[in-house]
Amino acid sequence: MAQSSTETDWVSRFADDVIAESERRAPGKPVVVASGLSPSGPIHLGNLREVMTPHLVADEIRRRGHEVRHVISWDDYDRYRKVPAGVEGVDDSWGEHIGKPLTSVPAPAGSPHPNWAEHFKAAMVESLAELGVEFDPISQTEQYTSGAYREQILHAMKHRARIDGILDQYRTKAKVQAKKQQQKPVDEAELEAAEGSGAASEDDGSGGSAGYFPYKPYCGNCEKDLTTVTEYIDATTELTYSCTACGFSETVRLSEFNRGKLVWKVDWPMRWAYEGVIFEPSGVDHSSPGSSFVVGGQIVREVFDGAQPIGPMYAFVGISGMAKMSSSRGGVPTPADALKIMEAPLLRWLYARRKPNQSFKIAFDQEIQRLYDEWDKLESKVAEGAALPADAAAYSRAARTAAGELSRTPRPLPYRTLASVADITAGHDEQTLRILSELDPANPLTSLDEARPRLDRAENWITTQVPADARTVVRSEPDAELLGSLDDEARESLRLLLEGLDSHWSLDGLTTLVYGVPKVMAGLEPDAKPTPELKAAQRSFFALLYRLLVSRETGPRLPTLLLAVGADRVRKLLAA
Ligand SMILES: [Zn+2]
Repeated sequence: MAQSSTETDWVSRFADDVIAESERRAPGKPVVVASGLSPSGPIHLGNLREVMTPHLVADEIRRRGHEVRHVISWDDYDRYRKVPAGVEGVDDSWGEHIGKPLTSVPAPAGSPHPNWAEHFKAAMVESLAELGVEFDPISQTEQYTSGAYREQILHAMKHRARIDGILDQYRTKAKVQAKKQQQKPVDEAELEAAEGSGAASEDDGSGGSAGYFPYKPYCGNCEKDLTTVTEYIDATTELTYSCTACGFSETVRLSEFNRGKLVWKVDWPMRWAYEGVIFEPSGVDHSSPGSSFVVGGQIVREVFDGAQPIGPMYAFVGISGMAKMSSSRGGVPTPADALKIMEAPLLRWLYARRKPNQSFKIAFDQEIQRLYDEWDKLESKVAEGAALPADAAAYSRAARTAAGELSRTPRPLPYRTLASVADITAGHDEQTLRILSELDPANPLTSLDEARPRLDRAENWITTQVPADARTVVRSEPDAELLGSLDDEARESLRLLLEGLDSHWSLDGLTTLVYGVPKVMAGLEPDAKPTPELKAAQRSFFALLYRLLVSRETGPRLPTLLLAVGADRVRKLLAA
């Protein structure tokens, strides 16, 4: 592996290899990296790794001053395989389009887009722009129907026996592998992600009685791919097919026919050669023995006189916390769903800090608050120059691209604080501004815009991901029964708290106060080290405050909660 001074993380190491390989294969030409996405339905958040892995490597190469082309191949000429559940504006009647190219299927009802593929592409394109991903889109529908691959298709047909021979070496291996995999429990989310990640399960074109053909026409009558090639004459390129769906049959000249495609296992290596791809990772479903990546490596060398890209396998990305909500909706989380609750740099960071072969989860649950804490801590370490090199590199890849900084929240207040405030104020702007300004009275917020877009993300998280029964509802009236039942010690601790409110009215001040009251009650100094007894006393004091303020045993952090409730209302609810 090449050494370089910037070799601090996985991205740099791949960039070293990809630059060296590109120089060897295509000296002086732009480096080409690739991703493939199938717009067969909403593009799953898990599939973002297909784009982020080459993006991060491409961005590093760009930073080093090389020209890079990140090709995103839209597999929009793939067949429509099934009607996804839970997509708005789609019902069972879409089932009649199964077998047609994705670009020939009508878009969901009410969509401004001309067809199915364009509809689902559009959402992804928008998310990629927000994520700072620069790419060169290639529509496979356009490529195939314009005849761009004519030479390659004729070449593959000419060498169909060779291709069949290569595929045959793997067919038995694949069967054995499939049997092995059947015994393994399969994670449902992984299965979903695998389905979304392209044509892994598509057949390889093993043919009927006329022999093997690596090419499949879409029917001239019904547009479906349920066709069988019945004859092919090499000399004239005359191809005869019949459709099992509608019975239509015709003879066309492949040297001028543009309504069909190479089968996936031939299509993919053909494109590696056509575009000169140096780097293209693939999901685990593509990397088993007999998989398209492995078979493709042999086909690209032996048939298309090209080379296989450097292609690391990436592990699946899971989602934590959204499962329940998404299944009730029938849908799957998309990158746009993630970008509603977290800023683009944070989402980029999740990919940058993990090697492609490490799996991780994207948090839609409480974990997002811890993740944001970790990110803020890293940011301050980077600012102090105290971050480890690999951590600093991951931060830099998340926060900016070769083109510049991603948009940033001017005053990045802690996400968990913003979420608590949003929880309590239910999005009331005036109240939110008051509370956020009181967090640090010496340096108050002048406008909510300073806390945006992070504030908006935290608000969205609270309203879309936190279940109603976990939301905080501040009492409107004191709990007279509970207050009446308190012993002298509890009353005294509440009195001490209320007495200190005004002089401690900031996030730091109230933190000192709520931890300090139990210390005073125990006769300890304010800076006393916590003992197990003191910790227990603090826990029961906090539980009492939660019960009196929000009728529960827990809630947002107390200092934030007190600020959010406001001093007057705190006095009203806690006066024993
Ligand atoms: Zn037909």
